[in-house]
Amino acid sequence: MKLLQDKVAIITGASRGIGKGIAQKFAEHGCHIAFTYLSSVEKAKAFENELAAYGIKAKGYQSDAANFNSAEELVNQVVAEFGGLDVVVNNAGITRDTLLMRMSEQQWDEVINANLKSVFNLTKAAQKPMLKARKGAFVNLSSVVGVKGNAGQSNYAASKAGIIGFTKSIALELGSRNIRSNAIAPGFIETEMTGALDEKVIQQWRDNIPLKRGGSSEDVANLALFLASDMSAYITGQCINVCGGMLT
Ligand code: NAP
Repeated sequence: MKLLQDKVAIITGASRGIGKGIAQKFAEHGCHIAFTYLSSVEKAKAFENELAAYGIKAKGYQSDAANFNSAEELVNQVVAEFGGLDVVVNNAGITRDTLLMRMSEQQWDEVINANLKSVFNLTKAAQKPMLKARKGAFVNLSSVVGVKGNAGQSNYAASKAGIIGFTKSIALELGSRNIRSNAIAPGFIETEMTGALDEKVIQQWRDNIPLKRGGSSEDVANLALFLASDMSAYITGQCINVCGGMLT
């Protein structure tokens, strides 16, 4: 059974990692995909072709999620080119890890803008066509770090905690219009973002997880698919962990 047949989704930051996994899963389920990226032009072009092989419409947009006006332009373009908008996955995110003692204002601002302001930007732009259609689903990528905090990641944790508060507020504001808003809090998912860590540190993470492995992009994509589809029609304002039991 295809869960997103003929729906249209915007997925931010899908040139690699979790966003890419979500785009593949959605395409497999018949969803047309508009995805964004910041700098991976060639990867994005190749991915556009890969997605089109599922028999759906797919297009990559180079669009900085941190930029307010770009979000509005993106939504207008997608609605014009795809004929509507059903699902937004706010996935784009970055890290600039360091202890507060060493953290610069720039490192703080970059993370808050790319991770949190981005969610405001696109949600605000996308609510317009969704309100008109009286349906829609937002799926926002938070993190277990946003729930419990993490030393050396105060900027990142603050951005991810902010996403949870934002997600719940939007669920309350837009629920009466049949627009749902949920968040996913992944634990340790092995992507390029985590590939920057030392192998010893990675193994320690794996050993401390009850399911004894890091998660995959597909583990997260399966929940994103559920939250984007009508299977979760009565679920809104929730933040669900995908963390192998790391945070219980
Ligand atoms: P990743 O492999 O580093 O990929 C990040 C993606 O976001 C790339 O496609 C990148 O595009 C894009 N991007 C970055 N800044 C952008 C911007 N300003 N505008 C548009 N696109 C931008 O990251 P990931 O591990 O897949 O993480 C995806 C999301 O899950 C993030 O929000 C992250 O915080 C969250 N998360 C990840 C983990 C984990 O363990 N991996 C855990 C919890 C939460 P380019 O390729 O063009 O740079």
